[in-house]
Amino acid sequence: MRRISVLGATGSIGQNTLDLVARAPGEFDVVALTGGRNVARLAEDARRLGAEIAVTAHEDLLEDLRAALAGSGVEAAAGQGALVEAASRPADWVMSAIVGAAGLAPGLAALGQGATLALANKESMVCAGPLVMATAQRHGARVLPVDSEHSAVFQALVGEDMAAVERVIITASGGAFRDWPLERLAHATPAEAATHPNWDMGQRITIDSASMFNKALEVIETKEFFGMPPERIEVVIHPESLIHALVGFADGALMAHVGPPDMRHAIGYALNWPERRALPVARLDLAAIGQMTFRAPDLARYPALRLARDVMAAGGLSGAAFNAAKECALDGFLAGRIGFTGMAGVVEEVLDRVCARLGHNDAAMDLDKVLAADHLARHEAERVMTERAA
Ligand code: NDP
Ligand code: MG
Repeated sequence: MRRISVLGATGSIGQNTLDLVARAPGEFDVVALTGGRNVARLAEDARRLGAEIAVTAHEDLLEDLRAALAGSGVEAAAGQGALVEAASRPADWVMSAIVGAAGLAPGLAALGQGATLALANKESMVCAGPLVMATAQRHGARVLPVDSEHSAVFQALVGEDMAAVERVIITASGGAFRDWPLERLAHATPAEAATHPNWDMGQRITIDSASMFNKALEVIETKEFFGMPPERIEVVIHPESLIHALVGFADGALMAHVGPPDMRHAIGYALNWPERRALPVARLDLAAIGQMTFRAPDLARYPALRLARDVMAAGGLSGAAFNAAKECALDGFLAGRIGFTGMAGVVEEVLDRVCARLGHNDAAMDLDKVLAADHLARHEAERVMTERAA
């Protein structure tokens, strides 16, 4: 039996992962499940799947978790240290599906015990791609992409020589506001931004899709995952979300990955890798679909894409600052402190203030430096938002 853990088990990716695990009884031995506020869901899944340990990120919820697990034999724990400890428990495969920079330390801990890390937490790659890859290498561990675009690229590269890769194209749906008049964007509400045209995902990534901060993170993730030079990474708007990415080769061929917008495909690919097995996703009827359309992203509508280019050019710890500023700006938008279009302005201002103060040497990157850059950017983002409100 393969021993597996799921970090962020109560979220959208986590629940899709557990769905696949529950469909294969007897194949997996569940070691750790972790969650945040949703202790009831965490306890129920830990009982149902016979996990060794369940961990909530919040120490104030430990008693609730203990009570919900009473008599089950499942160990309960809480807090950041407990998350890292659970991720360090020997397992063959670990899903990294905590949202935000909070997913970095547990993911590194999983790599540190040699597990294959299925990485949905793109923030890890944006904040600390070189550190993630170096940690994997040091411990003989593997990182498999779960973000749909990166899984698509990974699949298109099977059996190919990286030297023959000319470019990578990742697709974007364009999010909730792709057809809104530009002048309406400033007044968009969190509820409007949290409605995705094609994908059913967590609230934060859905709003990041509307602003294309999600795609900005994914461009950086592509650079870090596949070692692609930034100028060879393209983004194209594809409203139907059926092609997830394309790889362009030296001979002009484009290999496209086509599939329904269902994350259980990418999760299942990483779970079964290097094999392919049957997955419970819809089969596309191309004749019924009729057509697929594409268009270039408008940088005035999506300034986040331009910021991603600046971050890749700056390198080093600027990715950690970018992600942290973006997380704070999103919190500011959710709290009504700034408008939808204000998010990119806050992030840009933070980068202007902190990037010169951050180191540029990827080889010297360690978790403390990444967390310090994250902290500095959050502090500046708070100041920028306070100044703007005054
Ligand atoms: P959700 O918001 O649905 O779930 C997030 C998970 O992380 C939940 O288990 C949540 O617990 C937990 N969590 C939240 N805050 C913390 C914290 N500070 N410390 C520890 N755990 C925490 O997110 P998604 O599943 O949508 O996304 C997860 C990751 O996968 C993100 O990095 C996202 O970018 C990426 N991703 C998601 C896709 C999708 O389809 N959803 C597609 C591609 C990538 P609780 O809910 O109990 O509070
Ligand atoms: Mg994606």
